[in-house]
Parts: sequence; structure tokens; C-alpha cells
Amino acid sequence: MAGFTRVGGPVFAGSDKEDRVNAGFVLTGKGVLVVDSLVTREDGLALLEAARSAAAGAGDGAKPAVVAVTALVYTHEHSDHTIGSTDFPPCGVLASEGTTRGLRVELERMAADFAGRGIAPKTPTLVFETRVRLPWDPEVVVAELGGHAEGSSVVYVPSAKVLFTGDLVFRGRAAWVGGIRPERWLAALRVLESWEVDVVVPGHGPVGGREILAEQRAWLECFLARAKELRTEGVPARQATAILGDEFGFTERQRENLFFGLRRRLGLRHDEEGDSSG
Ligand SMILES: [Zn+2]
Repeated sequence: MAGFTRVGGPVFAGSDKEDRVNAGFVLTGKGVLVVDSLVTREDGLALLEAARSAAAGAGDGAKPAVVAVTALVYTHEHSDHTIGSTDFPPCGVLASEGTTRGLRVELERMAADFAGRGIAPKTPTLVFETRVRLPWDPEVVVAELGGHAEGSSVVYVPSAKVLFTGDLVFRGRAAWVGGIRPERWLAALRVLESWEVDVVVPGHGPVGGREILAEQRAWLECFLARAKELRTEGVPARQATAILGDEFGFTERQRENLFFGLRRRLGLRHDEEGDSSG
């Protein structure tokens, strides 16, 4: 779904041109609120351009549109959702406490690489604890639920019944599980399933209806049950990575992250030589 399309009311969603990751924006009475910023500077600029042109076309005479991008919300700190903000104009940047902490760590970890590539994701200017409501016509709710990353948050537009889940939902592809909190993730999905939602914009994969929340929960339950089985059988993490990687369709690129998740988050043993990190 490369490019951006209206998914409900004044809410737009789309992805980078290689369809790797999603982002979106909401046209509000206070300007454009952007949700995540894609994976490269070029992607971020394309998103910005789409947001501005949608806003410019939205004025109906009676109510002139506010074309400026006034706010950016991060669903979480992973770089494929934040790097594109490098060339954004000065604007408010909202993020949960957990995401703000995570981004600080990420920016330190990537400092040399980012500097070399001219990348400087915008850092949060407004940090919220669990939930923030923006009465911006339409009202926009941002809530931290955790699960995928420590501060994983969702963006919800009640009047349009549109929900941006960030990486709490991967559709049609295996999730990145290296930093998950399994119980929090399941709880987050159950909460979201109870909300009034017609359109779900996942972090990755095509936009869908509310059923994709339940589909993600079923995937996760199945994945966690299998991981637990392998742990009980005493299968080491490296071997379990190959097994689960094949069974659940993790790409080669994702498998080191899967290995990490199995060891650090799901308690599988690591008994290869030369490992001292426990
Ligand atoms: Zn992520």
C-alpha cells in the first residue's frame, strides 16, 4: 500500500515505497498530526509531502484547512518508525515515557552510524505517562500499552474509528519479537479488541478491519505456546530459532532478533560456547 490513502474520516495511512513499514496522519483543526515517520529520510519527506497536500486539499471554504504539520507521535522507538522525522519541520513530538527512554538508548547506540548518514530523528517534546487526549477536532487519543517495545503506544481517532497500532500488530508477516513482553502484548491486544474500531493500521502489512487484532493475538498465542513447548523440552535457543523461524515464517533478517527474544524474553537456554552475556 505504498503511498497514502484515506482510511476513514480525516485519517490517512500508507507505507514507504518498498512496503516495509506503515505510517499515517490525521488532518485536525490544529494542523496535521503525523503518526510515525518511516524508515529513511526520503520516506519521511514523501510522508510529509503527502500530509501537506492532503491538508491543502481538505479546505471546504467554510473551514480552511491548517496545512502545517503541528505534531508527530511515535508509536515506539524502533528506527524504522523514527528516522524519517529527520527533515520534519519543528513540531511537537509526542511519545510515552517508555518510548522516550527507549529512543534515548537507541540514539546513543546508533550515534556514530546516524551521524555518518545525516540521520537525526526528532526527540520527544511532550512525554506522557499512560494516555493523552488531544481535543483537536477530531479528538485523537494516544495510549501506552507496551508489549512490543516497553513503551509501545497506539493512536486512536474515535470519531473515525481508526486505530494505529504501531508494532503491536504485524499483518501477513512474522513479528519482531526481540524485545517483547509477552503478557503485556496479549493484554494490549485484548484491550484494543474491546475498543470501537472499524479500521486498523498495523505497524507493518496491509490496513484491515478490527479482525486483524484477533488474528495477531491468535498468532502470538500460538507462537508463545510453541516457544514454551520447546523451552520445556530443553531445546536450546539457537535450535529453537531455526524451528520457529521455519514454522512461523521469520525472514533471515529477523532470525537474530528471534534468537534474542527466545533467550532474553522467553527463557530458552543458550548453551553455545563463547557466550558470556547470559
Ligand atoms: Zn518495532
